[in-house]
Order: sequence, then C-alpha cells, then structure tokens
Amino acid sequence: MAKKRKRKIDNECRQFQVEWSLKYFFIKSSENALCVICNETVAVMKEYKLRRHHQSKHQDKYAQLEGKVRAENFYKVQNKLTSQMTLFSKSSNEN
Ligand SMILES: [Zn+2]
Repeated sequence: MAKKRKRKIDNECRQFQVEWSLKYFFIKSSENALCVICNETVAVMKEYKLRRHHQSKHQDKYAQLEGKVRAENFYKVQNKLTSQMTLFSKSSNEN
C-alpha cells in the first residue's frame, strides 16, 4: 500500500520557526513576529524579512554574540519585554 504524501508547505512556510528566536531575536506575537530588541513587528513570517530586520538594525550589537552568550542575551531581552508587557496590560486594566 502506498502512503499518501501529505505536504503542508503553505502552512509551514507561514509558521514561526523556533530557531528564528535565537537567530534573529524574534518571538511570535499573535499573527506577527515581534522583535524583542526594538518591539517592532514584522507582519510577514518569512525568514528573509526577519533576517533583514535583524541585520539592518541590530547587527552591530548582536552579530558577535554566539552560542550560549547569544541565548542568554535573547532570554534576557525577552524577559524584559514580556515583563514590560505584563506591566502594561496591568496598568491598562486599572484605567
Ligand atoms: Zn528590532
């Protein structure tokens, strides 16, 4: 019996890839990719878009970070950003 090939290329291309986080300092934010460094969103989930953003804006500071250091830096900025988000949503609830 021949197996049916199921290919979901369309979906896969549009999905946020976990590896992009460390590569380009992006996280998934609803339908967009969000840069944890400058809070800018990229609406198109394409690797070259994220790469271009990272290279044009953050290359100087982050290009030389590799491996563990890069990961540590990513989690540091990410934590900072998510705690800011929590603060923001708290204060907007109170208003
Ligand atoms: Zn950025």
